[in-house]
Order: sequence, then C-alpha cells, then structure tokens
Amino acid sequence: MPSNRNATTDSERGKLMSQKIAIIGGGYVGAELAKSLDNTAEVTLIEQNSHFVHAPAMVRAVVDPAILDRALIPYDGVLTHGRVVQGVAQSISDTEVALASGETIAADYIVVATGSSNAVPFKANGGDIEALRATNGQVHAQLVAAQTVAIVGAGAVGSELAGEIAHAFPDKTVHLISSEATLFPHHPPKLGRKLTAKLKASGVSLNFGARAENLQSLTEPYAGTLSLSNGAQIEADLVFPVIGSKATSTLLQSLPGAEVGRADRVKTDAWLRPSQFGNVLAAGDAAETGDAMTVVGAGRQVAWLTKTLTALVEGKNVEDLKPYTPWGPKAPFLVPLGPKLGNSFLGFFTAGNFLTSKMKGKDLFLKRYAKLLNQSEG
Ligand SMILES: Cc1cc2nc3c(=O)[nH]c(=O)nc-3n(C[C@H](O)[C@H](O)[C@H](O)COP(=O)(O)OP(=O)(O)OC[C@H]3O[C@@H](n4cnc5c(N)ncnc54)[C@H](O)[C@@H]3O)c2cc1C
Repeated sequence: MPSNRNATTDSERGKLMSQKIAIIGGGYVGAELAKSLDNTAEVTLIEQNSHFVHAPAMVRAVVDPAILDRALIPYDGVLTHGRVVQGVAQSISDTEVALASGETIAADYIVVATGSSNAVPFKANGGDIEALRATNGQVHAQLVAAQTVAIVGAGAVGSELAGEIAHAFPDKTVHLISSEATLFPHHPPKLGRKLTAKLKASGVSLNFGARAENLQSLTEPYAGTLSLSNGAQIEADLVFPVIGSKATSTLLQSLPGAEVGRADRVKTDAWLRPSQFGNVLAAGDAAETGDAMTVVGAGRQVAWLTKTLTALVEGKNVEDLKPYTPWGPKAPFLVPLGPKLGNSFLGFFTAGNFLTSKMKGKDLFLKRYAKLLNQSEG
C-alpha cells in the first residue's frame, strides 16, 4: 500500500498522480528521487543505461572484478507505479523531454540529473554496461600484470584506489601523485595527516606538491613514463589518470539563461532552477548547487527535491518554499583504504579504521543500493 495513502483521500491522490514528473539520469539523484516520488506523481525516469553504476564500488572493482555483479544494479525493480525509460534524453523544453529515439515524454516538472563523467573504468561515460564490464576486465588484467602503478590525482578516488591496490597487491609498487602539498587540504588537517600515515605504512609512495607534466590520457589508464614537475621520472606499467569528474551538462547548457560554472556544472538558483524555465530543476554533479560532486551532496538534494516537488504538485508556488541549503563545511567525507583501513570526517570529528570500515569500507553501501533498487542480494 502506498505510504502516503493515509494522509490523502483517494480523489486527492488521483489529482496528484495526474501530475507528471520526468527525471533525466538514474544516478544517485535520479534513482532515489524517482523512487521517493513514485507514490506522489506520475514519474518517468529516463536513463541511458540498463544498470545503475554504484561508483564507490567501482574503485574496488579494479582489484576485484567479482564485485561488479553487485555494483552494477538493474533498474527493472526500482519503480512500482512509474516507469523507467531506457534512452538518451537529447533536448528538453518546459513541457517535454525529447529522446534520441524520437520518443517524447510530456512533463509538468523536469529534473535534470545527468551527473558527470570520469576516467574509465570508473563510469560508463555514455557507453553501455557491457562495455564498462569489458573495460574493467582489461584494466584488471593490466593491473595484475603490472609491477609499478602510478595514480595521478589524490582526491578521494585516487587515494582510495591507492589503498585498494596496496591492500589487494601488497607486492606492487604504488605511486600516488598530487599537485597539492597535502592530502585533502580543504578538510580538517587531521584527516589528511592520518590518511597520509596509513598510505605510507601500506607502502604507497607519495609524490605530493608535484604535477604530472606529460599525461598521455585523461580518460583511460595506460603504460608509460611520467615526468613530474619536481624533476622525478616514474616508469609505470600502469598509469591511472584520476583527476576528477566533469559534469555531463549539455542538456542543461542549452536551456534559456543557463550559465556554466566550474567543471562544466550549470549554475542553479536557490531553488535548484538552472534556467528561465520555472518547472525545470537540476541537481547532482551536473548542477552547481553549492555542494561538492558527491553522493553525500546528492542525498541532501534528493531530500529537498522530494519535499519541494511534493509541495509543487500539490499546487504550491516554488518561491514560497524553503530554498535549498547545501552541506557547507560539515559535509561527511569517508575515505576507506581497502576494506579495513581509512579515515572519515563526520562533521564534528575524524573517525578511524573501525568506523570507516563499518560505515563504508567493508560493504561500500552495496546493500543500501541493492535495497534502493529493489534487488535482492542473493
Ligand atoms: C569512482 C568514483 C567513486 C566515487 N565514490 C564516491 C563516494 O564514495 N562517496 C561520494 O559521496 N561520492 C563518490 N563519488 C562521486 C559520486 O559518484 C557522484 O557525486 C554521483 O555519482 C553523482 O550523482 P548524480 O546522480 O548527479 O550523477 P551520476 O551518478 O553520474 O548519474 C547520472 C546518470 O545520468 C545518466 N545520463 C547522463 N546523460 C543522460 C542522458 N542524456 N539521457 C539519459 N541518461 C543520461 C547516466 O547514464 C547516469 O546513470 C565517486 C565518483 C567516482 C567516479
């Protein structure tokens, strides 16, 4: 039975359910938002891929491809009332979404959550799920054969990858390279200090304050010699470029009044509107909402979007509703280094191995996302 059934009469519910919400992109924003509005309006989730890609587990999948069976989760069970349309959204107006297939989907409200791309083998980047699996298999084979690995970029993904490789293959030489002088300089210093000590103790060679000057690819791993700005040369059997995500925002950029910000994210106003269309909202990595490009940011936006869209379909005016407030400096930030080690900033304190492993490192939220997409883990 729908959860809000007791709160509304059948005729009120019928009216709400006649409002159409189209959500483009079935990532952390899109999949969760579609599910949370499934009893409130007629939801259509438009997603180009057959499976949800659970990014945090894609780091471990480089050392353990078996985890892909849990990290790539089919969309077929996510909605009960609404529908998932597999297709590429090509353009939007204030009344409909046009797909590459020629199909159009009418909507009273549209949420654009087209996310971001990253280097392979972490994200599908517009390719299909089988191609992502195949790339993961190739990179894993290259990693098994490699003796020296260089990771360029020591954000969360690069640092976690170094920790995963050091844990799974302790005999390999792993270099972690960052142009920053310390790890996570925008977080409390204790977090970076603790993680630095753990990486060193795991045998990872840290090359900080040095820029890789001759990266051959920004999008895929390769074998080659890296020249660093401090004069060092690293000959690596496998170089992973891990220099951050770039928003997939072409759809948003074409809207009237849209403005592109950093990393191609499209700016939004306080009600997450990216353009002059009052009924089109944007969130997640594609939108400059004030949050970092994280699942943690996406989660906060989903909670706000659920409340806001529920009020809008009930006939409220958006500007009478509470605007979105981003996380700010208290945003949680969890950095496992393999299943057992790691540190996390939890808003008020920095947690160590035990909590980081329990909250993320051990299971990587795989159970949570299987449940969200209504898949059994058996
Ligand atoms: C390897 C890796 C590990 C990460 N680990 C963490 C972590 O541990 N914790 C954390 O907080 N953050 C993590 N992140 C960041 C996190 O993954 C992103 O912030 C998150 O994916 C953003 O969610 P989203 O819904 O905005 O977009 P995405 O998850 O990127 O989803 C966007 C979806 O839109 C679809 N799409 C795009 N264009 C179209 C179109 N035109 N038509 C139809 N569908 C379309 C895509 O196929 C995709 O499924 C990680 C990122 C990477 C790359």
